[in-house]
Amino acid sequence: MKAKERMAIPRQRPRELKPEERITNFKEVTFGFDEETAILEANRCLQCKKPTCIQGCPIRNDIPGFIALLREKKFEEAYWKVRETSTMPSVCSRVCPHEFQCEGSCVRGKKGDAVAIGMLERYLTDWMVANGRPMAVECALPRQEKVAIVGSGPAGMTVAYILAHEGYSCTIFESLPVFGGMLSVGIPHYRLPRDIIGAELHSLKSCGVDIRLGVTVGRDVTLAELREQGYASVFLGVGAHESRKLGIEGEEGTEGVLHGVDYLRRVLTGEEMNIGSKVVVVGGGNVAIDVARTALRTGSKDVFILYRRTKEEMPASRAEIHHLEEEGVRVEILAAPVRILSEKGRMTAVECIRMELGEPDESGRRRPVAREGSNFIIEADSIIPAISQRVDHTADQGVELQQTPWGTYQVDPETLQTSVDWLFAGGDNVLGPQTVAKAVYQGKVAAESMQRFMEGRDLRVDRKFTAHMEQ
Ligand code: SF4
Repeated sequence: MKAKERMAIPRQRPRELKPEERITNFKEVTFGFDEETAILEANRCLQCKKPTCIQGCPIRNDIPGFIALLREKKFEEAYWKVRETSTMPSVCSRVCPHEFQCEGSCVRGKKGDAVAIGMLERYLTDWMVANGRPMAVECALPRQEKVAIVGSGPAGMTVAYILAHEGYSCTIFESLPVFGGMLSVGIPHYRLPRDIIGAELHSLKSCGVDIRLGVTVGRDVTLAELREQGYASVFLGVGAHESRKLGIEGEEGTEGVLHGVDYLRRVLTGEEMNIGSKVVVVGGGNVAIDVARTALRTGSKDVFILYRRTKEEMPASRAEIHHLEEEGVRVEILAAPVRILSEKGRMTAVECIRMELGEPDESGRRRPVAREGSNFIIEADSIIPAISQRVDHTADQGVELQQTPWGTYQVDPETLQTSVDWLFAGGDNVLGPQTVAKAVYQGKVAAESMQRFMEGRDLRVDRKFTAHMEQ
């Protein structure tokens, strides 16, 4: 096929559940491509000599490589091409914001639509499952050393997966009653079905990883005790699960005020919650979008998002914003809450103020500035701030670990070693809230460092992966 013909193929769109149906349940919203659509989409790829898409992928998947195999219908080979670099393509293909990563760097996006790389990756993982192909990799012969991994999110899973395949005896300690960290308690099922996380759990168990749920490191067992128990190296991958507060009047102690990740965790672990009919969600990232769409699915009728900048600056994925609006959530831009009003301890409304954009701040985005005298009231049963998350430091109790000014762990930017030599850290507890692909990449860096540490090798010379490659 000539380049001109490839350029003429429009981007293929996946089928989706209709908005009126999807807000009644937690079924996956987006269907995968069928074979014909996947091959058509794969034919849009120009097989660039300098594939910019790879630079946009935090784990540096060989994107033109797997697309070339896919369009020859070599689906299994194409899947293994992705697995050369990615430990969990079934998760990344569903939840990564591709338009800011690989697809955002695809040359076809300059004058039209980028290649739908995420959907093609998903096609391969779905094909492997549908065709009953084994997705496990053989493990090396067992070694003596034990490794502890604190947290079962994507970074911890990746460390466990790599080191277990190198023959190390790996134990994951997870404080939640469920496996998967933020994947399980932060991403609703309509974006990431639970059987996908279940498959990751199965693959770790099949290579001998011991998974202990409901064990909080720092409270039930300390890091120092793990070391005394003979763990040669420990990985900290506890994520960033603590909601940041708004810091406004009425936020503390008022019934009806919840916080984004706490709310999602409660709903996604099966708690029945009644947050009322009218709900205000504050924030513009994926957590805010997930909270708003989850509130609709649990019976709230009138859901607003308040965001202090404009829609273009919302950090959430464009597909999520599109789905949100299709489902009937109203986005109130250039507005911020200033006070929560209540009667007898129960919230009744939120007082807001209009914002306008001023000079760019340190993030490069224009700083929102309040417009004096523009206050207005939104009556509501609940308010759910979802503005950002920070690290909960329960795990490092009793160990002096250096932190950054943002409360994340201070690590060597090349090796992810912390200020304690046998402790390594990666994922959101180092980067702050970030994408799954970035957490997976840090898991790969940390696993390499931990193996070098346990083998007594230099942590820096001739590395395969370094953390700053990604920064
Ligand atoms: Fe294909 Fe886009 Fe990557 Fe080029 S940049 S190889 S067109 S996916």
